[in-house]
Amino acid sequence: MDLQKTVQPQVPEFKPYSPGLAIEEIQERYGLGRVVKMASNENPLGTSPVVHKALTEHAALAFRYAQAGTPRLCRALAEHLGVPQECVVAGNGSDEIIDLLVRVKARPGRDNIIAFSPCFSMYGLQARLCGVEFRQTSLNPDFSFPWDALVALADENTALCFVTTPDNPSGYTPDVEDLKALARRLPPQCLLVVDEAYMDFVEDPSAHSLMGCLDAFPNVAILRTFSKLYGLAGLRLGYGVMPAWLASYCARVKPPFSVNILAEVAGLAALEDADFVRATRRAVSEGRQYLRAELTEMGFTVHPSQANFLLTEMPAAAPLDAGEFVERLLQRGIIIRPMGSYNMPRSVRISIGSAEENREFIATAKEILADA
Ligand SMILES: *Cc1c(COP(=O)(O)O)cnc(C)c1O
Repeated sequence: MDLQKTVQPQVPEFKPYSPGLAIEEIQERYGLGRVVKMASNENPLGTSPVVHKALTEHAALAFRYAQAGTPRLCRALAEHLGVPQECVVAGNGSDEIIDLLVRVKARPGRDNIIAFSPCFSMYGLQARLCGVEFRQTSLNPDFSFPWDALVALADENTALCFVTTPDNPSGYTPDVEDLKALARRLPPQCLLVVDEAYMDFVEDPSAHSLMGCLDAFPNVAILRTFSKLYGLAGLRLGYGVMPAWLASYCARVKPPFSVNILAEVAGLAALEDADFVRATRRAVSEGRQYLRAELTEMGFTVHPSQANFLLTEMPAAAPLDAGEFVERLLQRGIIIRPMGSYNMPRSVRISIGSAEENREFIATAKEILADA
């Protein structure tokens, strides 16, 4: 018997995740020393010194299992957010919370999940892996959200609706009133999952986030992460805030130690480091303004963004296409994200770097466009 033919039939259809390239990969490929990565929306200031110190001090704890379900971190998060602790589930990145919600809430072969297109690839990946139909409707050409078309995808078997705000890759951030209206319009059995991975960078979160009014919306879950604002992408730590009954189900099926003991230490320290949070927000806000102004002047189309990245299209008169532009930047040691895997071959997504990285990127981009 050919064992390879006995896997779940949908699995061979999957393509590997296409992440931002790793710094080591580019150093090796082009024989470079310094490489600047502005491709995965990581924190431009790196890891908080307070977190670094806490990790060093607790490194010897690595032989211990964490406390199952990370209750200390969930308590700290609940306090930080002003929500009940029973509503918080911590995970190995928000990726794990997405996986949990799909497996807990959607019934294979019967239910469906709805979202916009393009959207974060994990929603569709987990849905399909679970044998759950994944339905999508295209964003408006300006990347705003066609709410009616999204609601029209839903039926009596729609288990989950995923919405990302600020959206990735565009940075578009709808008004909180639009999300409230969506929550009211979805069928009663459908859970609205709002992925707020980038909400920490928004100027006025109360105008955009449902976090403050979850009491009034028992059909809403919110995802957040330590990967972006808190600079912990490599440690893997995210969380969901959801109705207590659902959090309880998730906690029962979740691998008990998926949040490792050092990630918990780091998360607790990160929540205490208000200085780092303030400095990161300022660096992102200033960097975003600088890059927007420079790129616009160079002829790029730059979409409005409240996140720590900018979606841009190559200047109409550019002598090279987005793929070539990305490749030439790579040769000079700068990594940005081509959008081919999102079906947007003319676009690139640029994560906000440090002030120095931003200047280096702009200078190099100008050279490339002038030489081409
Ligand atoms: C980066 C990102 C996340 C965070 O994922 P983690 O697993 O917490 O690192 C979630 N959703 C979106 C849309 C993202 O871009």
